[in-house]
Amino acid sequence: MSKSMLLQILQKHSAATILRTTPKPEFVSGEIPVFPFLSIVGQTEMKTALLLNVINPAVGGVLLIGPRGTGKTTSVRGLVDLMPPVRRSLCPYGCEEEAAETWGMDAVCSECAAKMARGEELTGLERMRLIELPLNARLEDVIGGINERVAVEQRKVRLERGILAHAHRNLLYIDEANLLNDVIVDAILDAAAQGRVTVRRGPLSAIYPSSFTLVGSMNPEEGALRPQIQDRFGLRVLVRALEAPEERLEVYRRVRAFREHPNWLIAALADDTVSFSDEIERARDLLFRVELTPGAEKLALRMVQEMEISSHRAEITTLEAARAYAAADGRDLATENDVAAVAPMALRQRRSRFMREYFDAAKKEEARLEEIRKSIEDAE
Ligand SMILES: [Zn+2]
Repeated sequence: MSKSMLLQILQKHSAATILRTTPKPEFVSGEIPVFPFLSIVGQTEMKTALLLNVINPAVGGVLLIGPRGTGKTTSVRGLVDLMPPVRRSLCPYGCEEEAAETWGMDAVCSECAAKMARGEELTGLERMRLIELPLNARLEDVIGGINERVAVEQRKVRLERGILAHAHRNLLYIDEANLLNDVIVDAILDAAAQGRVTVRRGPLSAIYPSSFTLVGSMNPEEGALRPQIQDRFGLRVLVRALEAPEERLEVYRRVRAFREHPNWLIAALADDTVSFSDEIERARDLLFRVELTPGAEKLALRMVQEMEISSHRAEITTLEAARAYAAADGRDLATENDVAAVAPMALRQRRSRFMREYFDAAKKEEARLEEIRKSIEDAE
């Protein structure tokens, strides 16, 4: 089979009734159960957007916009079982060879410097993680700082990693992104733009790599998001509540089944969850080979132009999402159809009336200056 099953599996469980039979007694499991991603009813666009980001980090993240209780956080947390493996530091300070190569040996701790000298690896393969940013996080939690215990024990004081460094190569989830403190938002935007975070405490400073997939959610009833941070999210999904009574009833059934017998629901979907996760890995491997047809590029640029969007992130996101969409479908060529499939997610809410009016005003001003110059010239 050449075609990927990702989109099919997603469709299949979005609508099907999977709980016709009565749940059997609980399976024994030591782990804290997570509501399965495939058990989310409907909300295909939200699930597709999350999937595209896991396949291709260059999509640039996703902002989920909608009222409470529509499954936004549940869907994001459900990704945990589907995450692909990524290279991860074996050191508690998050040291990586790449950091040492880019920023010098100061970017790794003394133990890792010794390891590198011996030719040992600083990283290993591990599943991508979900890092949740708590709403009450302080700036030092986000950026990092001094761990007093370690500072006393070790002679070489190393600054502790914050949430942004822990988010490296992972998915950073910000629930209620619009309620976040401006200082924290700026720190996140900074790290996102530079791919690293610098921790400074007095004479000490440390650099940590911090390149992550940003997923945010917000309830528009509770206030708007600053345009700067809104632009930073590659995709935007409007998450509406389900309307069909049978779909809402199915949500109730699955939520109840999970509450009463969580491991039964997980087991019922186990086979497809494993295939889904394998297919994600395959799509990630395929992505490097996915090219865009000239028609796909032309369509994306035309849409951006017609929508009068200024941010270059618009076309970058559209084209990267189209490549991920093709990879999800097991193809190495992204066409107009792929662009059309992702365009609403990539381009909605990107038009800025402010910028349009701002540039119009600037043009008028320049025209006026030109008039003045001419009138003086004519008078002479
Ligand atoms: Zn280290």
